[in-house]
Amino acid sequence: MSNLESSPVLRLRVSQTAESILRSGHPWLFSDSIREQNRTGQAGDLAVIYDRKDQFLGMGLFDPEGPIRVRMLHVGKPQKLDHAWWQKHLTAILDRRRNLFDAETNGYRLCNGENDGWPGLILDRYDSTLVLKIYTTAWTPRLEEIVDIIDEQFPCERIILRLSRNIQDKSSPYTEGQIIRGKPLLEPVIFMESGLRFEVDVVRGQKTGFFLDQRENRRLVELLSQGRRVLNAFSFSGGFSLYAARGGAVSVTDLDISPHALSAANRNFELNLDQPAIASCHHETVKADAFDWLDSAAPASFDLIILDPPSLAKRESEREQAIGAYGRLTRSAIKLLRPGGILVACSCSAHVSTEEFLGSVREAATESTREFKELQITAHPADHPATFPEAHYLKAIYLRF
Ligand code: SAH
Repeated sequence: MSNLESSPVLRLRVSQTAESILRSGHPWLFSDSIREQNRTGQAGDLAVIYDRKDQFLGMGLFDPEGPIRVRMLHVGKPQKLDHAWWQKHLTAILDRRRNLFDAETNGYRLCNGENDGWPGLILDRYDSTLVLKIYTTAWTPRLEEIVDIIDEQFPCERIILRLSRNIQDKSSPYTEGQIIRGKPLLEPVIFMESGLRFEVDVVRGQKTGFFLDQRENRRLVELLSQGRRVLNAFSFSGGFSLYAARGGAVSVTDLDISPHALSAANRNFELNLDQPAIASCHHETVKADAFDWLDSAAPASFDLIILDPPSLAKRESEREQAIGAYGRLTRSAIKLLRPGGILVACSCSAHVSTEEFLGSVREAATESTREFKELQITAHPADHPATFPEAHYLKAIYLRF
């Protein structure tokens, strides 16, 4: 912290376009929009941005690496970024989740980065374990203070620190997966979502261990599953499958390329066998590349298919290819659906827009020459708000054939 406080304030002037983008509430200042900078900035420096009239425009966290140079914390009147500021903002973030969940759901997102005003920082709750994930070293000099404030306002057994891949070797003294506060982890973490129990690998699992963003789609799938044979493609640890089973599915097939994901899905079924509908549902797992498997499986063998692939466009240059892949998956899945069957197609690619994704699914559905009806389109759940264009990554469409 000391080097942050002893240097003169880092002052920036930015392009006219960037000024208006920031004023409109966009949280990112890109390096190529910076016109003037009074000194070299360190990771985590508070950068203060002045407009053309030399008036305070806003402030944010400086990151000397990567194209996003400043992640904005505040735009408007000058404010002091002290301990009270952080406390007040965390209170507001936590208040936004108040009453969203009952006692049946103790796993959800507490802070969704930029969309909650804390850019590049995610905080997820899994029962009494919190997972704090940072995507920029701009947070490392402030971590102790942030962890103190979280601990004060949301008492928990422990806080695990996760580092995004690009900062794992740059975040000294912190390490990926360390327990930054609280008790050691002696057993797997188990939490509840809509009354279902799930095991989660908070130390090594993808994201923070679970795809909390799909909860509302899982709840919808439960309502559509009665009497159906369900295929959960890209199943991960079986999230959708447990809801389908509880909703009365006759059988559920988990399809994933990762054996670890499928073992976790088996354990998650075991954790919920006290629920009669789950105990009586036939559950099987298939370890395969979903693209290949969907192409070669027996036609008309399912009544409900969920397609929830990982992001198919990690960067802008992969966008076209990803749109094509969504079409291919949809075409293959439709062939496997019986008459009256339902397809739930999801996309979590930020680089593919909702229109592009829906367009490619609809085109494949039309091409099939089968009659179909659109049942529903969904986006972000309330604990994963999306407040600027790049944040809208999640979309899903429900079709009945
Ligand atoms: N639907 C899940 C999340 C899916 S995450 C949930 O609600 O929890 C994406 C999953 O796709 C991961 O488990 C990953 O192992 C799997 N995956 C990635 N590429 C794959 C491929 N080519 N074939 C099958 N599974 C794949």
